[in-house]
Amino acid sequence: MHPSGPVRIGIDLGGTKIEALAIDAEGRELARKRVASPAHDYALTIAAIRDLVAEVEADLGLRARVGIGTPGAVSPATGLVKNANSTQLNGRRLGADLAAALGREVRLANDADCFALSEASDGAGAGRRIVFGAILGTGVGGGLVVDGVLRTGPNAIGGEWGHNEMPSRTEDRLPDTGCYCGRRRCIETYASGPGMAADHARVAGASSGIDARRIVALARAGDAAAAATLERYARRLASALATVINVVDPDVVVLGGGVSQVDELYVALPRLLGEYVFSDRCDTPVLRNRHGDASGVRGAAWLWPAREAG
Ligand SMILES: [Zn+2]
Repeated sequence: MHPSGPVRIGIDLGGTKIEALAIDAEGRELARKRVASPAHDYALTIAAIRDLVAEVEADLGLRARVGIGTPGAVSPATGLVKNANSTQLNGRRLGADLAAALGREVRLANDADCFALSEASDGAGAGRRIVFGAILGTGVGGGLVVDGVLRTGPNAIGGEWGHNEMPSRTEDRLPDTGCYCGRRRCIETYASGPGMAADHARVAGASSGIDARRIVALARAGDAAAAATLERYARRLASALATVINVVDPDVVVLGGGVSQVDELYVALPRLLGEYVFSDRCDTPVLRNRHGDASGVRGAAWLWPAREAG
């Protein structure tokens, strides 16, 4: 296939694998490669990314722009990675080191930001001015895209709602939770997949030991306790999303991560958001992502525009 416009390579730097994807201006996939992440070794991680880019470019016979999706965020103050669960990255000058290894300027963004950018560019949020992408997976993250551009900001935390405090108004007594970040009652501890499982265990008994996928299956099979867990989950998620909608009023909310596959949410959220958004009605569409797990690597490529200016 002859690429349309400049080719961009996205790199998804994950804890278990590093994936590279080349797309053209239309978002068509030209080449895809992946390798296992070198465990806990920073220099090998840089070398693996350099080699992946070289292989993709050799296959395509061209030189491309490169964008990287990384855990954590790059501190605007120091240029160093912070908040990454792949801890070998923390405190490293990842952008500068990759630019040196690849011999070109690179763009970096948080993986949740890459999800939001991918869905805003040619995914479920395409054509909408303001897109809030919310990840509901092992953790809860998010990104905000305005007119096709990621909102990063002076703290590089645009869209990061997962460690805001869960509003307590959904019930008389919201259960107290601790978060790995050191705060209490973070949205992540209720709205992540493990958060749903922990909530079910609190009510149904700690011995239940079942994950979010199983809770959803049980609810569909008529299990009353599982159905109640799913309803609590949806209500809390609606309340948490309402805090974003009240501030930003995005044109669309796109859900990603494992829990975004739960069909029931797309029925429950429109019903529940009206109760929590400060408006006579809530017309914000809440949509399932289009690109699924590929949104991380696609969004990294979209860190560069489809068409070069001039
Ligand atoms: Zn937290």
